Amino acid sequence: MEESLYQKRIQKELGITQAEIKERMDWSKPILAQNSKCSVSLDLPLLNCKPSSLCSEVCYAAQGRQNYRRAIIKSLAVNQMILENPQQAALKMVVESGGIPIRLAGSGELLPEHNNLVHYIELYGGTYWGFTRRVDTHQSIPKLMFSFDQSSTEETLEYIRDQVPVNRRAYLRNINDPVAPFKVAVTFPVHGSQTNLKDRIEKDPTDCPAARKYVAGCWACKRCYNSPQI
Ligand code: SF4
Repeated sequence: MEESLYQKRIQKELGITQAEIKERMDWSKPILAQNSKCSVSLDLPLLNCKPSSLCSEVCYAAQGRQNYRRAIIKSLAVNQMILENPQQAALKMVVESGGIPIRLAGSGELLPEHNNLVHYIELYGGTYWGFTRRVDTHQSIPKLMFSFDQSSTEETLEYIRDQVPVNRRAYLRNINDPVAPFKVAVTFPVHGSQTNLKDRIEKDPTDCPAARKYVAGCWACKRCYNSPQI
C-alpha cells in the first residue's frame, strides 16, 4: 500500500537529527511563520497529530513550503521551546504577531497542555484562532474550531454533536463525500498543491471562501476566528 502524505511527512520528521533541532532552538530567531492565507501562524510538527484516514491522505503539512526540510526543523525546535518555556514562547509570539491574530497551529497539532501557552498569549494581550482534531485538546482549549471528516471516529462525531457549538465546527470534504452530517460553520473542500480536488467537489454555502478563492485570506473573512472582533 502506498504511504499516505502524513506517513511521508512523519518519516521526514524522524530523519531530522537532535543536533539540527538544538541548533534551531534559538530565542533570537522567529517562532511564527508568515503565509499568504492565514497571515501569521505557529507551525508545529506532526508528532501530536491523531489524524483520520482522510486527514492522513490529504495532509496539508506534507505539501508546499511547510514541508521544506528547514521548516520541519523549525517546527520541531519551536515545539521543544514551547514545552520548555511556554511563557517566553507566548511573549515572543505576541511580539512577533504585531497585533495580528495568531493561527494555532498552521501545521501539526496542539496538545491539551498547550492551554498553558494560550493562557500566556492572552495574558500578554495577543489573540489566536485555529483548529484541532483532538477531543482532549478541544476540551482544554474550547475556543478552537474542531475539524472532522467522514472518516472521523464515531466517538469524535458524538463529541462534536454534543459538545461543540456550530460556530466551532469545521468539516473537511473529499470527492464524493456528502455534505456534513450536522450543521457546521465551515466546509473545506480538499485543496492543496498536491491534492487540489476542490473543483471536483460540489459547492456548498458553508464552503471556506479562501479555499474557493473568493477572498485572498482569512483576515477578509474571520469566520473561524474566536470572536468577530479580532
Ligand atoms: S472560513 Fe474564513 S476564517 Fe475560516 S479558514 Fe476559511 S477564509 Fe479563513
